[in-house]
Amino acid sequence: MIPKERDLMNDVVLTGDRPTGPLHLGHYFGSLANRVRLQDLHPMYVLIADYQVITDRDLPGEIRRHTTELLLDYLAIGIDPAKVTIFQHSAIPELNQLLLPFLSLVSVAELGRNPTVKDEIAHSSQAAVSGLMFTYPVHQAADILFCKGTLVPVGKDQLPHLEVARLVARRFNDRYGEVFPLPEAMMGAQPMLKGLDGGKMSKSRGNAIALSATEDETALLIRKARTDAERLITFEEERRPEVANLLTLAGLCLGRPPAELAEEIGDGGAATLKRVVTEAVNEFLRPIRKRRAELTEGDARRILAEGNERARERAVRTLEEVRAAMGF
Ligand code: ATP
Ligand code: MG
Repeated sequence: MIPKERDLMNDVVLTGDRPTGPLHLGHYFGSLANRVRLQDLHPMYVLIADYQVITDRDLPGEIRRHTTELLLDYLAIGIDPAKVTIFQHSAIPELNQLLLPFLSLVSVAELGRNPTVKDEIAHSSQAAVSGLMFTYPVHQAADILFCKGTLVPVGKDQLPHLEVARLVARRFNDRYGEVFPLPEAMMGAQPMLKGLDGGKMSKSRGNAIALSATEDETALLIRKARTDAERLITFEEERRPEVANLLTLAGLCLGRPPAELAEEIGDGGAATLKRVVTEAVNEFLRPIRKRRAELTEGDARRILAEGNERARERAVRTLEEVRAAMGF
C-alpha cells in the first residue's frame, strides 16, 4: 500500500526471490500478484537472488534446479518476459562492485539492529552467523538501486531491508551528488501469510503450500495442519490462530472474507474446514499449475539469458555513473 498522492508514472519496479525452493502462496499474495498487475504499467526487473542463498546456509544446494523452477513459477503465474527483465544476481558482477561503496555508507550498529536478519538468524541452520548474513540487506540495496528501482513489491519481512536501501541511496546522494531515487515498498493483500505451522510461510521452513504442488500434496499438507477441538468454526485471529490462518488462506483464494466462510462452515468442525480450504486452494492454483506443465527448461534458460543481458547493460551504466560521482 503506497500513498495515494504519489505519482506512479515514472516508477521502475524491482523485486526478487531467493532460489531456495518453489514459490508458495505467501509469495503470491505477498508480492507476485502485485508484480503481475504492475508489469503492464512500468518497466520491471525481477531478480533471482542466487548469491543470497548462502546467507543462512553453508551450501547453495541445488541452485541450478531451483533457479530454473523459480523462473517457471514466474511464467506460470503470468509474468511476461517480453515486458519484464528476469535476471540472476550471479550474472551481474557490477552488483558486487556497487556493494563496496554502499557498505561504507552504513554502520555496523545499523546492520545489527535489522529485525528480519535477527529472525533469520534464529531460524538458520548454520552454527555461526556469517558476515554475509549481516550485510545482505546492503547487497539488496545494490539489487534495487542498480536499475534505479523506485517501487518494490514485497512482503512485510522486507520492510527493514527497504529502509536500508533508502538509507544507502540518501547517504550516497548526500555524499557524492544526486544519483539514486529513494525506493518505496509496496505490500500485497497479505504482507505476512502464515504457514501451516503458524509461523511465516517460508520456502525453507517446510510449512508452505507451493504453487507447483499437486492437488494430492496440497490436500495432504492441509490435512496435517494444526487446528483445535471446537466444532463451531469461527474467525478469531487472537484466540484461534490456527483456524483463522486456514480461513485466511481459503478467503484469499476465493476472494472472500474469512469470517463469512467461517459462518458457512458453522459447526462442521475441522474436517469441513479443511475440505473447504483444500478445494479453494486447488481451484485457485489449477490454471497456474496447468500453465506450468506446458513450459520447458529450455524456455527458462533462453529467457534467463536474455534477461541477464538486459540487466547487465543497465548495471554497467549505473556503475559508471557511481564511479564518476565518486571521482574515480
Ligand atoms: P526462504 O525461506 O528461503 O527465505 P521465503 O519463503 O522467505 O524463502 P524469499 O525468497 O525470502 O522467500 O522472499 C521473496 C519475497 O516473497 C519477499 O518479497 C518476501 O517478502 C515475500 N514473502 C515471502 N514469504 C512471505 C509470506 N509468508 N507472506 C508474504 N510475503 C512473503
Ligand atoms: Mg526469506
